[in-house]
Amino acid sequence: MNLLLIRLIIFAVLFFAGLKLYRMYREWQQDRNAGDQDDTPANAMVRCAWCQVHLPENEALRERREWFCSTEHRDKYLAEQDSEE
Ligand SMILES: [Zn+2]
Repeated sequence: MNLLLIRLIIFAVLFFAGLKLYRMYREWQQDRNAGDQDDTPANAMVRCAWCQVHLPENEALRERREWFCSTEHRDKYLAEQDSEE
């Protein structure tokens, strides 16, 4: 009887520890997914804010929430933005 009680307690402890770990894992996964959704998916096509050319995200440059095909266009765009302000 005593042995059964000990087994029961051990089982309960393991069960709750497992549940807690599972919840932590789920939260960690949700955090990761939420972080991914923030940004454009990988290999998505983006548009250069200066010349409107479409190019893969991993080849584009990002500045001030806009995409650019080259540093030249980024600099031109930013120069224009600054002159407008
Ligand atoms: Zn461009």
